[in-house]
Amino acid sequence: MSVEKLEKLMAFLNTVPQKKIRVNWHGGEPLLAGKEFFKHIVRLEKLYPDKIWCNAVQTNATLVDDEWAEFFSENNFHIGVSIDGNERVHNIDRIDASGRGTYKKVMRGVEILRRHGIFPGLICTVTKKTVKYAEEIFNGLVDAGFKGISFNAFYNTASESNEDVYGLTENEWFTFLKEIFLLWFNLDDETIRVRELDAILAWTAGTSANECSFRGTCSQWFAVDYTGDIYACERFGRRFHFGNLEFLETYQNLISSQNSLDFKKEIKILPSKCKTCNFLSLCYNGCCSHRRADEEGILVYTYCESRLKLYDYIQRTLEKGENDE
Ligand code: SF4
Ligand code: SF4
Repeated sequence: MSVEKLEKLMAFLNTVPQKKIRVNWHGGEPLLAGKEFFKHIVRLEKLYPDKIWCNAVQTNATLVDDEWAEFFSENNFHIGVSIDGNERVHNIDRIDASGRGTYKKVMRGVEILRRHGIFPGLICTVTKKTVKYAEEIFNGLVDAGFKGISFNAFYNTASESNEDVYGLTENEWFTFLKEIFLLWFNLDDETIRVRELDAILAWTAGTSANECSFRGTCSQWFAVDYTGDIYACERFGRRFHFGNLEFLETYQNLISSQNSLDFKKEIKILPSKCKTCNFLSLCYNGCCSHRRADEEGILVYTYCESRLKLYDYIQRTLEKGENDE
């Protein structure tokens, strides 16, 4: 993104009515934008002191050096790294241009961050190739010192088809999470948090996770690419285009644009199974970009059954644990 576009973006964000503005900077690899670019972000945010700016960066950490870490620490950036398990499992899918696994480079960046007092969370992407290694993945991440773990099921949002051969199936995702739950439960260490388990544990307490994919708050997020084009969440790819910073200029213009209104309407359409589901107010038909057409042609959350089965499994395990005491 050019400096000029970045300046337009920050002026645009200043028109969002909320005081707290959360910005997730990600790419590709966002650190490729360079240190000067990030320093300029902070300079621009200072021009709008009425806002509380919360910056997050999702990085593979391979470019992190002391200067980056110092900058992130001084400016309170929240850092998430992408790492897919222990060295062996991570290197199955994550290789560099010369075909070498990147685990060591990623962990080198993580260690630099930790030396500067930053303890990054992580996103672990689970693919068809790695889904069978739940134990190795979980133990590898815990042994590497991570406390906040999030799992993403690989899902090809670009696929229009219900037959996505690369995406995890309901059963693969459920089996994986069930194993992760048992490992976490038996570890008995409450300092380790797993986002997907916390979400279902929240259900067992009658509340929902503070996540857009459980709260029906998808339309509160939008993505801006390097050209200034504005889309719905980046998980949709380019499916929902709302316009460009050049023409929309203010947040009010964005939310009153026809494309944005159509999008909001579309994501609120509920399939019949959700209308009668006890968890509707805690789930809202899941992540809007992870939906496939049901037999009536209405979009339903792809991992609906996994959520329900995991809830059932966790609930029964907790009850059993309590009865055993
Ligand atoms: S597409 Fe999914 S992850 Fe993105 S904002 Fe919507 S619910 Fe959240
Ligand atoms: S997606 Fe499934 S779990 Fe969620 S509200 Fe709909 S039926 Fe219930």
